[in-house]
Amino acid sequence: MSSKRKITVAYGDGIGPEIMEATLRILDAAGAQIEPEVIEIGEQVYLKGISSGMDASAFESLRETKVFLKAPITTPQGGGFKSLNVTTRTSFGLFANVRPCKAYSPFIKTNYPKTDLVIIRENEEDLYSGIEHRQTQEVVQSLKLISKPGSEKIIRYAFEYAKKYGRKKVTCMTKDNIMKLADGLFHKTFDEIAKEYPEIETDHKIIDIGSALIAERPEIFDVIVTLNLYGDIISDIAAQVTGSVGLGGSANVGEEVAMFEAIHGSAPDIAGMDIANPSGLLNGAIMMLVHIGQPEVAEKIANAWMKTLEDGYHTGDIYQEGLSKERVGTQAFADAIIERLGQGPANMEPIAFGKEATEPMNIKLKPAVKQAKELIGVDVFLEWDEEGRDPNVLGEKLRQLDADGLQLQLITNRGVKVFPGGMKETFCTDHWRCRFQNAGQSAVTHAQILDLLKQVEALGCDFIKTENLYTFDGQRAYSLSQGE
Ligand code: NAD
Repeated sequence: MSSKRKITVAYGDGIGPEIMEATLRILDAAGAQIEPEVIEIGEQVYLKGISSGMDASAFESLRETKVFLKAPITTPQGGGFKSLNVTTRTSFGLFANVRPCKAYSPFIKTNYPKTDLVIIRENEEDLYSGIEHRQTQEVVQSLKLISKPGSEKIIRYAFEYAKKYGRKKVTCMTKDNIMKLADGLFHKTFDEIAKEYPEIETDHKIIDIGSALIAERPEIFDVIVTLNLYGDIISDIAAQVTGSVGLGGSANVGEEVAMFEAIHGSAPDIAGMDIANPSGLLNGAIMMLVHIGQPEVAEKIANAWMKTLEDGYHTGDIYQEGLSKERVGTQAFADAIIERLGQGPANMEPIAFGKEATEPMNIKLKPAVKQAKELIGVDVFLEWDEEGRDPNVLGEKLRQLDADGLQLQLITNRGVKVFPGGMKETFCTDHWRCRFQNAGQSAVTHAQILDLLKQVEALGCDFIKTENLYTFDGQRAYSLSQGE
């Protein structure tokens, strides 16, 4: 039996085949113990009518090899095509998106030569669940779902990653000054897990100032862990800051399966011309080699690649007059790397993966502790567009309702309290949140809520949704309104 590690490989579209060929040639010359199993994905598969761009045999291959080296693909224009990346991510539970962003100055132009950070982005939750509803004439809703296990998994991954790659600091980024429950859960989980890694320095930054600092002082960051949407945005900021958007690789990692790729697309404008830079895919492949336990091969390739950059053999996209020695094509660039296998950079810091790089990551979740949950009220959301949208009129109407003690406490519009005692200047849409509780916030029953909704209907009001108000172990588990 072969001792080589089977991996699934897709040559993709556009420049995909040429950069994959260059990458695999380098891996082979460096002695990577891999056995590629080639699958077809992308444009041709989409055009056969398979909406995910990947057929059943491709899924089967991934299920078996659990490692996917993927060249970029072209998503055909027009509707009905699902993102192949999203399909792979969700089907195989690839919960972590890992994107190292490093400057290679002066060989790649950047104003921030000391940048060397890694963004670890949660990949499965947040606003990307895509649960959206139009609720009224004027208002739509996009649900942001954050779970404790989802947060714990990605945060543990970030700390284990830091340990594995000898990184010193993990920074968490959230907006928990505003989203106290959702982002607050992520931040709180970060603080809890940080205690298990006393050797790693930790920090938290509010995402807005955090993003600004990535753009202004990226060298202060090491590993950054964050929620899906923020991660999406700061990954691009950080890649741009390093000046090496075209050189970046990324990994999507799950408990079983992992996918490695370049961050750029299929560049159809230069396809088949042998001028594409294969570095992005190569950097993805370097991450893959560490992942499959071949860090010494990964190190050899990374150092030869940096030496090639230093020696001035550059593809057109990174060619700089006066600094570059020769403008080379895709395959000649690969040859230059192959010639330098065993050598390392003289000006840039050589890559050295420590022995930790081969150790398995411990991302086991702590057993959940169930908390006592009590229902203490309900928010009934209404569409209401009468009487000049005067909150006092709606308030007085709803004040008549009484479902065995369940009575109106307040009304908000877009989160701002408008009744009782609202300000007449507050702009109101047709979307109203009406909070009902028992006197003294005593426990509420489902029967009371059902009765209340019947009364709301009888009043001629259109209720569009309800949200229950709970406490967990006596702690309020819903937000107060602005002005409450
Ligand atoms: P792109 O990244 O393919 O190209 C943007 C620009 O960068 C182009 O001018 C291109 O020539 C250049 N470029 C990209 N990679 C390069 C490389 N390795 N060497 C030299 N120059 C390079 O982005 P796009 O044009 O917006 O998208 C093209 C196609 O790629 C679309 O169909 C898009 O859906 C797809 N795409 C796929 C992935 C993926 O498979 N992960 C990611 C992004 C875009």
